[in-house]
Amino acid sequence: MSIQQFIRDHRLDAMRIAGQPVAASGQVIAVHNPYTGELLGSVPRATVAQVRQAFATAQACQLTLTRYERGAILNRAADSVLQRRSEIANLITAESGLCLKDSLYETGRVADVLRFGAQEALRDDGQMFSADTTPAGKKRRVFTQRAPLLGVISAITPFNHPMNQVAHKVVPAVATNNRVVLKPSEKVPFSAILFADILYAAGLPHKALSIVTGDPREIGLELLTNAQTDLVTFTGGVAIGKHIAATAGYRRLVLELGGNDPIIVMDDADIDEAATLAVQGSYKNSGQRCTAVKRLLVHEAVAARFTEAVVERTRAWTYGDPMDASHDMGTVIDETAAQLFEQRVSEAVAQGARLLVGNQRRGALYAPTVLDRVRPEMTLVCEETFGPVSPIISFANIDEAIALANGTAYGLSSAVCTNRLDDITRLVNELHMGSVNVREVPGWRLELTPFGGIKDSGLGYKEGVQEAMKSFTNLKTWSVPWG
Ligand code: NAD
Repeated sequence: MSIQQFIRDHRLDAMRIAGQPVAASGQVIAVHNPYTGELLGSVPRATVAQVRQAFATAQACQLTLTRYERGAILNRAADSVLQRRSEIANLITAESGLCLKDSLYETGRVADVLRFGAQEALRDDGQMFSADTTPAGKKRRVFTQRAPLLGVISAITPFNHPMNQVAHKVVPAVATNNRVVLKPSEKVPFSAILFADILYAAGLPHKALSIVTGDPREIGLELLTNAQTDLVTFTGGVAIGKHIAATAGYRRLVLELGGNDPIIVMDDADIDEAATLAVQGSYKNSGQRCTAVKRLLVHEAVAARFTEAVVERTRAWTYGDPMDASHDMGTVIDETAAQLFEQRVSEAVAQGARLLVGNQRRGALYAPTVLDRVRPEMTLVCEETFGPVSPIISFANIDEAIALANGTAYGLSSAVCTNRLDDITRLVNELHMGSVNVREVPGWRLELTPFGGIKDSGLGYKEGVQEAMKSFTNLKTWSVPWG
């Protein structure tokens, strides 16, 4: 069956308002395959009135599912994702251009998010304190418990993991009995709609979740300021994130924004391992992970060997038709993005960097690219370059490595290649980043564990199922006169 047929058969060309498919009544947003350029289908351009209706219906539905019921829904959805792995991966690949290897990997991550949500839903999240512990204390006990938000969660997701980004917003909401209105990226709306259907089929009350599609210039303001939302959770770029912070007013915000993650290779590093991590970190998901390796910082004593190993592995990284299961990489999200990488790399070369491999482009297909002699002030590395580019910068000592790593506006994650505990301790303490992974890519994590950046990379709560559940709940403290 063609993907177009799959989209029509499953009515993925309709939004879901309170579980009901709502087809376009007026204008639509067309979605094209980034590799072939063919039209996959289109989704409605929601009106502000439709968005208001989604919030109002969600607000009117009070969820009272037991922990067991929430866990069971999420576990059934995980089973379904795993059973439908291949068709989900085909859909992700068709709308995003990510290669099948990446899309299949994403389905596993989505199932993990669901399983962790099911597991956390069962866990009691309250605490108990004895109150007779100070001179002025009393024989009382203090308890805490968490409750879902009073209003509806407004969630906005980016294009780079079409289903997993959606899962990270919706699953913690289901696990905590919250209601959600989610707007997926207009570039990849179908995976989000399919994910909602999987949850409805697993037993999620339909009114608890709506997926609205549309042009953010038309419905963005409503999503940020609707009177029935008391939390906006956003994953995406810094510019929109800061716009949201300035617009949303008095409501809770979860902002997960861009990254510019370094891999730091010290002079004692295992060069084969470091080069493998650098290449995987740079090119997996076509370099479009917020935690992709964006800067390769290498000690000058091993820079030549490391650079050679990175170039060799880059040449071996196969790319092309995303539907070819043997390829390591498909396209980037669209031709405009690929043109931007090409232009930034060419500008760096004009400013003195040396191109070692790549920087070829055909439509949205952009070759994995390595360049060295890069300087930190070049746009390629001081801005987030959200694609498969490996810019190499060398340093003389650990002080310089830390200064380079911290020298951008971002602070998401990092990788460190060394076995020296004194260096590791300094790097963990002094890198201004949300995470530091020793001898792993910056993007490595469990879907459960706390994740998120500082500086321009994020504000407020972290993500990861456990932290997101905290951010989606109100904590109530109560006490009794029995100690
Ligand atoms: P983007 O900021 O362009 O868009 C993200 C979402 O915001 C989309 O759904 C878009 O429609 C919506 N949007 C745009 N204008 C809006 C407005 N005025 N009001 C409300 N919503 C609006 O990001 P993108 O290009 O889709 O994704 C790539 C970016 O996301 C990169 O910067 C990447 O680093 C970041 N990202 C961050 C994380 C993280 O966890 N920190 C994870 C993945 C991606």
